[in-house]
Amino acid sequence: MNMNPECIFCKIIKGEIPSHKVYEDTDVFAFLDITPINPGHTLIIPKSHTENIYTISESDFEKVTKIVKKIAIGIRKGLESDGVNVRMNNEKAAGQDIFHAHIHVIPRYKNDGYEPWHGKKGVSPQDLRKAAGKIIDSI
Ligand code: 5GP
Ligand code: ZN
Repeated sequence: MNMNPECIFCKIIKGEIPSHKVYEDTDVFAFLDITPINPGHTLIIPKSHTENIYTISESDFEKVTKIVKKIAIGIRKGLESDGVNVRMNNEKAAGQDIFHAHIHVIPRYKNDGYEPWHGKKGVSPQDLRKAAGKIIDSI
């Protein structure tokens, strides 16, 4: 198991920093975010330290996303949320603060005031086509 002694989330997995654990198996750990959008906001992480979506193994990513689904259903049911956001921040520019890969599962309620993003209106079809082409060429 890859561990980084400097990493806050590795310390949480080891129990060196306390957390509200909601799920654990051999490869995956899930705990409540300390500054939640709403109470129950959960972070799902691979136990093996890795920085982000680019570096996580496909196998660990699959295991994490399986649990993301489980937790989303648990939040919807247990907290009677009206909806759930699933979000992963990768790199500083995308809002990543902790460099141990994690997926946020966020309980949402009607009129809770959280607005994750505002899409840009009026982007031209040419720009969309160009962007699609560049992604396709890079996959
Ligand atoms: P990011 O911005 O990297 O996607 O999200 C990191 C998240 O980790 C933030 O939402 C932040 O509130 C949470 N966080 C940071 N430090 C701690 C901590 O020590 N304990 C817990 N439970 N959450 C933390
Ligand atoms: Zn770590």
